[in-house]
Amino acid sequence: MAKIKLDDEIIIGGEEFTVIAGPCAVENEKQMESVASLLKALKVSIIRGGAFKPRTSPRSFQGLGIDGLKILKDIKQGYGLKVISEIMDPRDVEEAYEYIDIYQIGSRNMQNYSLLKEVGKVDKPVLLKRGMSATIDEWIKASEYIRMEGNKNIILCERGIRTFETYTRNTLDLMSVPILKDKTEYPIIVDPSHGTGRRELILPACKAAIALGADGVIIEVHPNPDRALSDGEQSLNFEEFKKLIEEINNMLDLLKGECK
Ligand code: PEP
Ligand code: MN
Repeated sequence: MAKIKLDDEIIIGGEEFTVIAGPCAVENEKQMESVASLLKALKVSIIRGGAFKPRTSPRSFQGLGIDGLKILKDIKQGYGLKVISEIMDPRDVEEAYEYIDIYQIGSRNMQNYSLLKEVGKVDKPVLLKRGMSATIDEWIKASEYIRMEGNKNIILCERGIRTFETYTRNTLDLMSVPILKDKTEYPIIVDPSHGTGRRELILPACKAAIALGADGVIIEVHPNPDRALSDGEQSLNFEEFKKLIEEINNMLDLLKGECK
């Protein structure tokens, strides 16, 4: 089982369950600072936030671009957090390199082979989200594009697939967790925010992810979800996020106790 080392303390795919959290999009410094303080207080060490946003409508907020990356770097330095952010274009790989710790390849780009090859050449980890219409086999083959260029530091992220069900934004295909554990050596992270699109389903989805042996979760949290520039309806507020972390920790303690 491959482990992703961000430094000596942060390891994804080891014994510890990893929580990554932050807003869907980087909106401004104040927003990111308040989320960073919350994460520090809760001992969550990786912050997310999109600077380049793949939006369905070209009229929706597209992200702050390079200015968003600069905010992320300030947060990284000021709070000692590790940073993950999505890139959408092969040209972003070099540009984003100095600002972030983990490259996120979004669902819409899982089969953007030029992008996959480009992140395959760098020495930073890549979180590869499942395409919303991708089979597990296609997803594994997409990871091979990264691996074949030399980058072994791959994290897979189940974020739900499109089905006929419309109650949830996507159908969170949690069976991919044990399947990928069997078929690949990579850590697997579950994204209940995009996987369900509904904040009340995030806790049960996290519990299921833990039970199935996932290596972590990635959660959207925002200081004021009703005013978020993207994905507010699936974002937790700070109180809700604190409760989520408590529940996750309780479940992890319980499982550790049982395994003794
Ligand atoms: C995101 O993480 O904000 C995002 C756009 O996710 P996905 O690519 O899974 O839709
Ligand atoms: Mn989002």
